[in-house]
Amino acid sequence: MTDIPITPEVTALPRMPRRADGKVNLIGLTRPRLQEALIAAGTPEKQAKMRADQLWQWIYQRGESDFAAMTNLAKAYRASLAENFVIERPEVVSKLVSADGTRKYLVRISGGHEVEVVYIPEEDRGTLCISSQVGCTLTCSFCHTGTQKLVRNLTAGEIVGQIMIARDDLDEWPKPGEGSDARPRLLSNIVLMGMGEPLYNFENVRDAMKIAMDPEGISLSRRRITLSTSGVVPEIARTAQEIGCQLAVSFHATTDEVRDKLVPINRKWPIATLLDALRAYPKASNSERITFEYVMLKGVNDSDADARRLVQLIRGIPAKINLIPFNEWPGAPHERSDWERIESFADIIYKAGYASPIRTPRGEDIMAACGQLKSATERARKSRAEIAAEAGI
Ligand code: SAH
Ligand code: SF4
Repeated sequence: MTDIPITPEVTALPRMPRRADGKVNLIGLTRPRLQEALIAAGTPEKQAKMRADQLWQWIYQRGESDFAAMTNLAKAYRASLAENFVIERPEVVSKLVSADGTRKYLVRISGGHEVEVVYIPEEDRGTLCISSQVGCTLTCSFCHTGTQKLVRNLTAGEIVGQIMIARDDLDEWPKPGEGSDARPRLLSNIVLMGMGEPLYNFENVRDAMKIAMDPEGISLSRRRITLSTSGVVPEIARTAQEIGCQLAVSFHATTDEVRDKLVPINRKWPIATLLDALRAYPKASNSERITFEYVMLKGVNDSDADARRLVQLIRGIPAKINLIPFNEWPGAPHERSDWERIESFADIIYKAGYASPIRTPRGEDIMAACGQLKSATERARKSRAEIAAEAGI
């Protein structure tokens, strides 16, 4: 291996986010962009692919963040990489562990903003719930995040960085000599169900998920990644084509009248339009079933008639229905449906031939359950009218 001179100033990287000191963070760059970055910093073009592959493995298969430890690269090359680049995760500000083992990380990203990331261990899997935006432009009435206006989209590096932080904390990077699946994965599944609407941050979410799915990257099967959307119809076909992960949809109501109130994006793309897009999804993405998320709100959307309408609406779509008992948060305008109501609703769906698991709330004691996430620094509550006016809906 030859020592490669690298110009100290990486001037040819116009589109890459840089730190104040001019260094570019390699986490979150797609393979082609990583190569581009290396070339711009002086790596000969002929070597760029091989160097990118080597770095990729260190970063995403070993969790390494120190160039000096990358022993299959020449010493001078490592030094020059360190002059131009960093491998930097978002900072973990705090970690809370629930009585049920759920872990909630408060993560600080550049600009001082914070997002929450939740790890949920189960018997046969461990699911990481990650965020795609700080806040959300949408204002679903039952969602705590929806009371926080959108601060900004997360970068691909900040999205994939959440997975890396959790793997650090779980100490599950393969040890030297170990294959990526030598031990059962503690973090085996990803759900994009944290803060934000992933389809309003499409490119960054796509790039991050590509890294998560890359067999030489974090190497999680696309069948173990679920993206949840409130129903951004124009981006659903693109999700099938460009990501190909599993899809969940925040359905939550069986008439436009009620859904308009609960999930205001319904006014733009009503139920019939949404269902058309969902019908096309499984075939286009080669995925199995669509998950219909349905939050159980007392007296609002939880009647037997709703359950019957729901199964009629989704007829013909390979689906499973995930009933989510409403998780309360301070000032929430709804109550959780009674347990008997939820069971009766589930029974109608089950008898119509659909799996209808009731999602057990996890991590409630640390406010880590669905829809409870909101960054502590951004708690100043806006009125719903104010948020809706800003979002243009
Ligand atoms: N913006 C995306 C993903 C984040 S929300 C979406 O809306 O799908 C993840 C899931 O949690 C969604 O189904 C959402 O409707 C649900 N949720 C939000 N607030 C909730 C609450 N307070 N109780 C239960 N589920 C909630
Ligand atoms: Fe945004 Fe999803 Fe919450 Fe609606 S449910 S406000 S889309 S995060």
